[in-house]
Amino acid sequence: MDRRSLPDLAPGWVWLVGAGPGDAGLLTRLGAHALAQADVVVYDALVGDDVLALARPEAVLEYAGKRGGKASRRQPDISLRLVQLAREGRRVVRLKGGDPFIFGRGGEEALALVAAGVPFRVVPGITAGIGGLAYAGIPTTHRDTNAAVTFVTGHGAGGEVPDGLDWAALAKGAPVLVIYMALKHLATIAAHLLAGGLDADTPVAIVAQATTPAQRVVETTLARAMADTADAGIEPPTMVVIGDVVRLRAGLDWLGAMTGRRLEADPLAKAARDTGS
Ligand code: SAH
Repeated sequence: MDRRSLPDLAPGWVWLVGAGPGDAGLLTRLGAHALAQADVVVYDALVGDDVLALARPEAVLEYAGKRGGKASRRQPDISLRLVQLAREGRRVVRLKGGDPFIFGRGGEEALALVAAGVPFRVVPGITAGIGGLAYAGIPTTHRDTNAAVTFVTGHGAGGEVPDGLDWAALAKGAPVLVIYMALKHLATIAAHLLAGGLDADTPVAIVAQATTPAQRVVETTLARAMADTADAGIEPPTMVVIGDVVRLRAGLDWLGAMTGRRLEADPLAKAARDTGS
């Protein structure tokens, strides 16, 4: 084992660790190394049991997430708790779904540690917006469809659709949108993008419970996204992907192929034939 790439979690330190999107196999080696040394693991709702099972058997597991949309702990309380545990000399892992710095408030918690003078390290994780899509057979970029990708949150700090975003500009300038926390406001988001000039037939995929055994994917269009998602009874957490890159799924749904789906060698040509363009 390379000691430089697997440093020890020292007493009094907090490591902000990304748990990945669900599948425990997607946790980094450094993340697993941290869990194996932790005295306390403060974890969020989206962290799977298989990842928590990698914690040192003596570690105390503290739940800090939300239940039923209701915050069971306020954000400042979580930050204070991390400071308190570190000051008690514990080895603290703050475990977050996906990557701690992608829509995960990792920055806020780390700044609270800075303010309190608590030493910390950040262990990146595989974000749902990349790893979750990969399990649905959707690349986040593909040379023939998008030279850029835009990560968006569908949920502002107060729970509303973020109004600081220029949806018309996104509709015009972003070839692929990868939207976190989009399910609740999907109708509003789709309406904004349609009003901004995005085509009603733009391909959309909704990926629910990505990388877990319960993963489900709905392939639809911008105009039909809301109705199709409701019909399918899709439950959060979900990623919403909007753009031509979604068409690649016909060729790259490797998980579906394991249960018999026939993959298209040239999914973009097939899509062009199907739409007659
Ligand atoms: N830090 C996390 C994101 C936290 S915000 C990350 O990097 O992935 C929470 C949102 O992430 C959810 O509302 C959902 O949009 C998305 N998400 C997280 N895990 C997911 C999963 N397994 N499947 C689908 N979406 C997921």
